[in-house]
Amino acid sequence: MSYPEIKLRALTPIWTGGVGGEMDRFHETGLMGSLRWWYEAIVRGLGGAVCDPKSDIDHSACPVCQLFGATGLRRAFRLQIDAPQPRHPYDDNDPTVKLPSIPLPSGHILPPHNRVGGWFLQQKSRTDQSLNLRLIPLAEGPQFDRLRIPLAIISRHASLGAKVASGYGVVILEGDESAQITTSHLDTLQSAIASSTSSSPPTGVVGPDLRDFFFAKLSLQDDPTNANWWRRIPGISEAMSGQVTDGGITRRVYAADPQDNNARRRLGESYLASMVASGILPLAPAVRRWLRFQWAAGPGWTEQKRNYVLGTTNSVCPQCYTVLRHNNRMGNRYTCPGCRATIQEEDILGPVASKINVTYAYRTSQSGQWQFRIWGWLPSNPPAALGLPRDTLLGGLRDTLKDQQQCSQILWAGNAPAAVNLHLIEWHSRHANQRNGRQYLEFLLGL
Ligand SMILES: [Zn+2]
Ligand SMILES: [Zn+2]
Repeated sequence: MSYPEIKLRALTPIWTGGVGGEMDRFHETGLMGSLRWWYEAIVRGLGGAVCDPKSDIDHSACPVCQLFGATGLRRAFRLQIDAPQPRHPYDDNDPTVKLPSIPLPSGHILPPHNRVGGWFLQQKSRTDQSLNLRLIPLAEGPQFDRLRIPLAIISRHASLGAKVASGYGVVILEGDESAQITTSHLDTLQSAIASSTSSSPPTGVVGPDLRDFFFAKLSLQDDPTNANWWRRIPGISEAMSGQVTDGGITRRVYAADPQDNNARRRLGESYLASMVASGILPLAPAVRRWLRFQWAAGPGWTEQKRNYVLGTTNSVCPQCYTVLRHNNRMGNRYTCPGCRATIQEEDILGPVASKINVTYAYRTSQSGQWQFRIWGWLPSNPPAALGLPRDTLLGGLRDTLKDQQQCSQILWAGNAPAAVNLHLIEWHSRHANQRNGRQYLEFLLGL
């Protein structure tokens, strides 16, 4: 029996989760969660309400649950990924030295245990071949065709899967047929939204809304005089040298033991070099570092705003995003040191995910240039206590990225720059008062 199939090509590693924090293979559930997240954002962007799928209501009219399921309602399809085994690009000559993931340090050494901060690149999250998503129907229901809407947005502007804030997930739709979206796809989705809101009053869960999203695409070219220019990019350079120095402290990146550190460093170096040669440049750590310490360090920013926009691993106040600590606690309540609000333990937020996501750079087949994406959303109704000037902050990001000199600081972080500059080649966003989601969606899909 043949089922509808969607062909994707991964331009960067993809994170779908796995066992014990490691990715052993491509997991369907990781992509399903991401597709649902996108689908919900699009439904909100078209004025629909998105329910809590665990709530005890009738979900049969909800356009999201019709496809993705809910309590008491079966998912309309099963996803099967036909993916090659994630590949290892080199043979490990010494089987005693294992390196399932490459550290890409942030450049910071973190208290209290002087840990090297940063991100990891998992080797098995990578494939050079097509991923075939097979959609296997489980119930009578709506057209799977509607899934092409989020996939087309992801393919053109964003990323798929988990850990999209740390670089994973650029996939593009392959083939003419799978890239084809027409306004009729949008019409059927919109009428499903309309009939669901008329049959049951919207009990919307607050969440990302496509109208609040922005999408940036940047490009860079190799330094023709120096094939090794990329080794100096922040994050990569520490992985190459095997150490981080911050505030007068130096720490080894791979292992505490110097010999062990060096053996792993060599594996990391050869892995990164082969990855760059095959067209993937892991510069997301450099971009994240720049976002937090350059862009979000400027006038008007506060620690609370950074927690809200760029995320935090700490527990924070749900009203003003001030970090809550043990000494703010009395019984099962906290008093926020920022806004003085009393907060019940169950209302505390955190960790908070970043609302801004960045990708690794990938080599484009047409021009041979590198490209990467920065995308995310800033809600047009952020918590009042934050005082977040949404349009001003986004406009500031756009203007800084437009300025080639400032933007290229992403790559050099104050070091002497190589002859490589960044260019903003695409920027899409809408002002908070522009609420025509259908128009924005059509624009983003190139309709
Ligand atoms: Zn629902
Ligand atoms: Zn507060």
